[in-house]
Amino acid sequence: MGTPVPTVLLVEDEAALREALAFSLARHGYQVRTAADGPAALESVRAGPPDIIILDVMLPGLDGFEVCRLLRRESTVPIIMLTARTDEVDRVVGLEIGADDYVTKPFSTRELLARIKALLRRQQMVQQPPAAQSEVVRLGALVVDMAERRALCCGQELRLKPRVFDLLAFLVQHPNRVFTREQLLQRVWGYEYTGGTRTVDVHVRWLRAVLAQHGCHPAQSGRLPQIETVRGVGYRLSMPREPAAIP
Ligand code: CA
Repeated sequence: MGTPVPTVLLVEDEAALREALAFSLARHGYQVRTAADGPAALESVRAGPPDIIILDVMLPGLDGFEVCRLLRRESTVPIIMLTARTDEVDRVVGLEIGADDYVTKPFSTRELLARIKALLRRQQMVQQPPAAQSEVVRLGALVVDMAERRALCCGQELRLKPRVFDLLAFLVQHPNRVFTREQLLQRVWGYEYTGGTRTVDVHVRWLRAVLAQHGCHPAQSGRLPQIETVRGVGYRLSMPREPAAIP
């Protein structure tokens, strides 16, 4: 399943191409992070690995091949190289040093999207054997359908903003584990921590409000997971220890 919204790190020095591609990728539902050169790309990956990297070969300073080599020392994230030449040597070198695929410029957005999809699918199959794959996660009275992006409580649909759903989907897949706000930002929002952890607090508050207002039968409310604030650490989704008392 992976994260509900895959994060793409786009490494391209030409601003116009970078922005156009970032725009297209975002429009097709990806979280997009960008880097204009190799060192920025390495820094971005260290701050929080993306799901896939689009790496241009022609970069100033460290070229794409060198960046790919360095990335491969510390990461197995799928890499698609953008090569400017139809030169076969470029493609072979790219694949030899650990890139997973390549696209030759000029390319259509459609072609790049198809390659991204194929690689992400392959990666998911590697990470999760089919038997362990579950599209529907149940936790107490809460049912979250990842594929349909719906959350139900006692059969009633919870009305959640897209990012609030992503937060719930992530937490429900990792019950009882404490995450810091920075970790949630990286795993749910997909961007590196830049001091904006208030975003997490706001979304947690929205999610709590929806969970609190749902029209669940009182007898079931003790079975509804709660988002606990773990003082000095972050948040955790857990089941209440005791069923809630029915007044
Ligand atoms: Ca370039």
